[in-house]
Amino acid sequence: MTEVLNPFRIAQQQLDTAAEKLGLDDATHELLRWPMHELKVTMPVRMEDGTTRVFHGFRIRHNTARGPAKGGIRWHPDETVNTVRALATWMTWKTAVVDIPLGGGKGGVVCNPKELTDTEKERLARAYVRALGKTLGVTKDVPAPDVYTTPQIMAWMMDEYETLTGEHHPGVITGKPIPLGGSHGRGDATARGGIYVVREAAKSLGIDLQDATMVIQGFGNAGQHAARIGHELLGMKLVAASDSKGGVYNSKGIDVEVLIDHKIRTGHVNGFAHADAISNEELLELETAVLFPAALENVITRKNASRINCTILCELANGPTTPEADDILYEKGIFVLPDFLANAGGVTVSYLEQVQNTYNLYWNLEEIHFRLKDTMRRAFNSVSEMSRNNTVHMRNAAYLVAVARVAEACKLRGWV
Ligand code: NAD
Repeated sequence: MTEVLNPFRIAQQQLDTAAEKLGLDDATHELLRWPMHELKVTMPVRMEDGTTRVFHGFRIRHNTARGPAKGGIRWHPDETVNTVRALATWMTWKTAVVDIPLGGGKGGVVCNPKELTDTEKERLARAYVRALGKTLGVTKDVPAPDVYTTPQIMAWMMDEYETLTGEHHPGVITGKPIPLGGSHGRGDATARGGIYVVREAAKSLGIDLQDATMVIQGFGNAGQHAARIGHELLGMKLVAASDSKGGVYNSKGIDVEVLIDHKIRTGHVNGFAHADAISNEELLELETAVLFPAALENVITRKNASRINCTILCELANGPTTPEADDILYEKGIFVLPDFLANAGGVTVSYLEQVQNTYNLYWNLEEIHFRLKDTMRRAFNSVSEMSRNNTVHMRNAAYLVAVARVAEACKLRGWV
């Protein structure tokens, strides 16, 4: 049997399993299988050499029963409508599992930002907001940064939206630079939230993580912060890290700050003097207490799942594990912290950013960390209780918690 790797099909399959277990009626199940709103936009943008290039983009709202759509904008050459649909769907479950009053959305532009100048990026960012127009808004749909989009891009988008509406609306977009209404703690929120749930998982498994090993696939934003915070808060030891060019491994431990410095200077982890080279495939199969996939989708499949050798798998990336691999990991007794729980710290602090923007009142870093920790701990506890009570693995349990909450909101609204 060939494994289906269309991410939207995977998102639908995951929902189907939860719907069956929850006994959802057909209408609610069908409603939740599809995005409620899809917009495809075509944007002509003047390049610096005087030519015009036409870019294609999407903005998709999966479900808004619990609140305005929330989700990042990705700029990637391989972006497809199905990836955006899947990610919008996962945002619905993510906001529901951490119980914040938001729905799920996602955006994407097919482009290679590495080939664009800053001026061209600004023109594309503004063109995207003009194309989406008033479908965006604090009470409708609130984007954020994602793969290859930055706080600066969010600032241009916010400015374009405010120019369109003639009003001050900092909460229309999150992940902004701090001087424009961004929140303290947003930069490392995804990784920090992941580390908070790893700590809860270790407590529930009775494992001490002091000096335990961690392995990180994808030493980018989320991966680097996870290494740093995992070491600072839990005393874990980084033994391997990788990026798109390959990985490095040292069983005695790697100094996180020195590796980050090397990555910043050279652009990759390869060639780091204090570790040996290792391939991405080998790195995923290392024996370790915690493995963080923090790069791309579909890296743990039925081909390698039986060789994954960690105690806790903390999915900072979206969709790193296929459903076939999930079952294998469960049989092996690996404790999986599923993506939409493990990486929900980013959207949680985005929500806190929106709240601060609405009140025009700003909190310090301690306040943000306190609220993030509390949200992640409560989310972990609901999922872990669901997992124990129904004898299902953590991903299915997270689906049961999230889907039940969204289904209830749809029902209370009288939609189904
Ligand atoms: P990033 O671009 O900063 O980092 C990604 C890293 O992965 C880079 O170092 C890149 O070289 C590496 N990479 C790319 N292809 C690889 C491959 N084939 N093998 C190994 N490494 C590879 O992106 P990020 O913001 O850290 O996001 C990483 C993942 O986390 C994505 O799936 C993203 O959707 C998810 N995520 C991020 C956030 C966030 O706030 N940053 C929030 C939620 C989810």
